Amino acid sequence: ASVPTITLNNGVEIPQLGFGVYQVPPQDTADAVSTALEVGYRHIDTAEMYGNEKGVGEAVARSGIDRSEVFVTSKLNNGFHRRDDALRAFDQSLADLGFEYLDLFLIHWPLPGIDVDYVETWKALEEIYAGGRVKAIGVSNFQAHHLRRLFAETEVRPAVNQIEVHPYLAQDELRAFDADHEIVTEAWSPIAQGKVLDDPAIAAIGERLGRTPAQVVLRWHVQRGDVVFPKSSSRERMQENFALFDFELDTGDMATLTGLDRAQRTGPDPDTFNYIP
Ligand code: NAD
Repeated sequence: ASVPTITLNNGVEIPQLGFGVYQVPPQDTADAVSTALEVGYRHIDTAEMYGNEKGVGEAVARSGIDRSEVFVTSKLNNGFHRRDDALRAFDQSLADLGFEYLDLFLIHWPLPGIDVDYVETWKALEEIYAGGRVKAIGVSNFQAHHLRRLFAETEVRPAVNQIEVHPYLAQDELRAFDADHEIVTEAWSPIAQGKVLDDPAIAAIGERLGRTPAQVVLRWHVQRGDVVFPKSSSRERMQENFALFDFELDTGDMATLTGLDRAQRTGPDPDTFNYIP
């Protein structure tokens, strides 16, 4: 069974399942992404912050797969929120990837406490979008109140909001807000970097269905309609995480997983995180 696509609010199609490269060391990234492409992934999530865009670009180039067949996302690093810096950073990301265009470019963090307003940053992304070298633009780690300011003060509606979501942080309120505004939610750290995999309720569902805990959790995301891109460095786990489209969770299983919510973040809180590398 193949990976479904989701249509973004500007008509662009994104594969619902991708491969994330956060914490993949730069020198290992080309090999990891090559393996992911062999396994069948056609969507890669990277960021300038991860320092491994070159490896992503190298793997896509050497794969022989047409550029148009692979969806690649990158993100604006926190130090580049001023307009001119953002424009330059986008050019640098493209150069490092070796691409003519990006599929999706995101503001990585809203950084509400720094001396640059993320509304200025979003307007820079609008300029980049108008220039035609990115198919869609979006945000990451935006809360509803950050998004409301973009709706009030800018033109282009973000195509996605990439936020931390997993069974211990179900995020139903923000996901509903995104959906109400035609913004697709992308769930980062979908298995909470492994922390949800020992949960007995998840294990029990997996045993009944003959699936691993990771597959159960990733399938829960898929059935909720979110985009996911689990990270792994082994081919076996890449294959395991890719095999999500030949089974289903029933309503009870879905509710069990959602009921594990305990508002527990593995990453920073977007309302207080103001880190600039
Ligand atoms: P994840 O939830 O994907 O977990 C990855 C870890 O879980 C791996 O290091 C591996 O050790 C383990 N794992 C993977 N598959 C497994 C399996 N089948 N069985 C057992 N263990 C397994 O965490 P992540 O890497 O933080 O998130 C995924 C992607 O989300 C990142 O690579 C990145 O692209 C994106 N992300 C974005 C932000 C953001 O601020 N926008 C933040 C974090 C991550």
